[in-house]
Amino acid sequence: MIVDDRIVAYIHSLASDDSEVLMQIEKDAREHYVPIVRKETKELLKILVLMNQPRHILEVGTAVGYSALYMNQYQPEDGKITTIERNEKRIQKAKENFAACKKEDRITLLEGDAMDILRKLDGSYDMIFVDASKGQYIHFLDELLRLIPVGGVLISDNVLQEGDVVKSRYAIERRNRTIHKRMREYLYQITHMEEFETVVLPIGDGVTISVRVC
Ligand code: SAM
Repeated sequence: MIVDDRIVAYIHSLASDDSEVLMQIEKDAREHYVPIVRKETKELLKILVLMNQPRHILEVGTAVGYSALYMNQYQPEDGKITTIERNEKRIQKAKENFAACKKEDRITLLEGDAMDILRKLDGSYDMIFVDASKGQYIHFLDELLRLIPVGGVLISDNVLQEGDVVKSRYAIERRNRTIHKRMREYLYQITHMEEFETVVLPIGDGVTISVRVC
C-alpha cells in the first residue's frame, strides 16, 4: 500500500455503487483473488473516460473483463473496447461476463500474448489502458506508440509496485529485480520521450497518465 490505509478506506467509502451485475463480477473476482483494478484506480479511469470520451479503447490485460465493462459504461454510446488476455480460464470467464452484460458487440476480446497481438494490430485507439505483466510494459511501448494518435491517452497501472520501484535494487528480492529494473526503465522512458507528456500518480498501486503530444 503506497497510500495510508485510512485515506484509501475513506476514499472507498465515498465511491458510488455500480450496477448489480458489475458489483457481482467485482465481488467474484476479488473473492477468487483475480487481480482486478483497485477501487480508487477505477474511479480515476471513470473520470478519464468521461473527460476524453474515447470511441475506441485498447486494454492490455482483461482478466475477467471487469475494467473493460466498467470503462465501457462511460464511453460514448457507440464506444468500443478491444481487450487482450492470454490466460485461458480468465478468457472463458471474461466471455461469460461480457455475455451476462450483453456487451459482446461493444467489447472484443483478443486471445493470446499481448506482444504478438499488439504487433498485428493496426487500428488507432483514443485511449490505451495497460494492466498486464509489469515487466513487459517497456517491451510494449513501441507498439503502443504506433497505435495511439496525437491527443490519445495512455494509462499504465501498477507502476509503483507497492512502493518497491523507489527502492535500491539491493533492497529488492533477487527474483523481483528484473521487473524492478524494467519498470524503472519504463517510467524513465515514458516521462522523457518527446511524444508523451506524462504524470505519475500515487493512486492505487501507482498509475501513469500520458498524453501523446506529437
Ligand atoms: N484489467 C483487469 C481488470 O482490472 O479487471 C485486470 C488485469 S490483471 C491485473 C492482468 C491480466 O493481464 C492477467 O489476467 C494476465 O493473465 C494478463 N496478462 C499479463 N501479461 C499478459 C500478456 N503478455 N499478454 C496477455 N495477457 C497478459
